[in-house]
Amino acid sequence: MQKTAYEFIMARTFLFHRRSLTIAVSIPVSPARRALLMHTAAASLSLILPACKRDESAPHASTVQSPFEPGALRLDLRQRVTMHGEDFALERLRLEPHWPASLNHLTGGADSGDYRLSAYDAADDTLLFRQGFDSALAADARAATTQLSIRLPMPSRALKAVIEKRRANNLFVAVSTFTPDPAHNDIDRTPPAISTRVHTIQTNGAPASKVDLAILGDGYRESEYDKFIEDAKRAAGYLFAVEPFKRRRNDFNVSAVFAASADSGVTDPYLGLKKDTAFGSAYYAGGSERALADNNNHALREAASAVPYDFLLVLANARRYGGSAYYGGPAVAAIDSAAANYLVVHEFAHVIGGLADEYYLPEAGGPAYNGNIEPWYPNVTISPASGKWRGPVTAAGAALPAPSAWNKAAYERYFADYVKRYDALRAAGAAESVVEQFLAQESARQAALLAQNEGKPNVGYYEGANGFAMGMYRAEADCIMFSLQTRRFCAACAAAIEQTIDAFCR
Ligand SMILES: [Zn+2]
Repeated sequence: MQKTAYEFIMARTFLFHRRSLTIAVSIPVSPARRALLMHTAAASLSLILPACKRDESAPHASTVQSPFEPGALRLDLRQRVTMHGEDFALERLRLEPHWPASLNHLTGGADSGDYRLSAYDAADDTLLFRQGFDSALAADARAATTQLSIRLPMPSRALKAVIEKRRANNLFVAVSTFTPDPAHNDIDRTPPAISTRVHTIQTNGAPASKVDLAILGDGYRESEYDKFIEDAKRAAGYLFAVEPFKRRRNDFNVSAVFAASADSGVTDPYLGLKKDTAFGSAYYAGGSERALADNNNHALREAASAVPYDFLLVLANARRYGGSAYYGGPAVAAIDSAAANYLVVHEFAHVIGGLADEYYLPEAGGPAYNGNIEPWYPNVTISPASGKWRGPVTAAGAALPAPSAWNKAAYERYFADYVKRYDALRAAGAAESVVEQFLAQESARQAALLAQNEGKPNVGYYEGANGFAMGMYRAEADCIMFSLQTRRFCAACAAAIEQTIDAFCR
């Protein structure tokens, strides 16, 4: 079938990226494309065991050799998608100094992500490690590549590491297999390739029993070190001002990791800016003007390895509205945007909670989800009958309206118009101050419209989520993953975030 110009553009765009386009607004995207982000397979953990202490990881350590030793093994991968299929090529096996989580519960993390890594003892096929992850590529990409990394505790013996892709009904199919063997010299054990300076923002305990957040900056020159530290503190402040992060603040260790860039600011084709920065952050990831992503995974991981980290937040030293995130990868946000608070909280929630976007771009008759595949995201569902968030969110047996009534038609009329006006501002090259004022005004209008639903049962099944106006449901009328606000997460999102925090603090 002949593609229209619009379809061609979108095909090209989503060929490439499936990062969450942080947003209160979105460019029109193909309904088939939306979804996806990350979750962090909470590799879980014991309060008692510090990471990286082999002989503390098992009670029989004196007689049974642990399969792991201090440090982490990072697999630097290149994902390749072609018309004939996809695979992951191993670019580098890298020893990192820190494994940031416990050595317990290594195979029972969150069941999230379009992919998972399963590592088996090569000698007897015992499953030693399993973690889900996602990538920045669109699920329907037909010709694209991207780089990403997955880590596991440093093995003391040969492994068989299998990357599997999630298919319908949560069946996994092997895509690529590697056989890392510490006895061979194919593991890069050299010091980090990136020089860094670490500033501790808060420490609340051993990395093995805490959520370890590393905040990095891109587009900061050496002379902007102080600005970076202040920006990192500000970003942490945004997170810990909203629940459930607020009440769980003491479960986080937060480090600011500085890596100097040659230039100040980041690449932005919209503004005609080309910058030489530590992690190559740039707008227009996947073709979207506000999708801001790093482009040097190796440098980012080398810098991050200076500290124990479970999650990465990258602050782009830039003002123009933008961000991105995917499950297993970094959350990226423009820290000098007037909407930086929203960008940081929304994008980081994708990373730590494995959350889907709840917003969608309404259009005549849709977009409608017509499939029957239940998304793995904890905050969206295709079936009000699923009871998906009944357990963690509401009392067992509580009846939830299905679907829940909300002012959907009025909100969709407003939101479709809002997107058009945003796009018009960008097309006209409006000054960022004008866009910022527009976003602030629209945020207030969105809040007022959605507040009309207050007084009705809060938690339920609200149609419209994950990029679809129909056939997909969210848990509450409003949420940080739905509208441009930072007041509150819906109960499903809050529960997912807390579950991850719990898993890291066990
Ligand atoms: Zn939510």
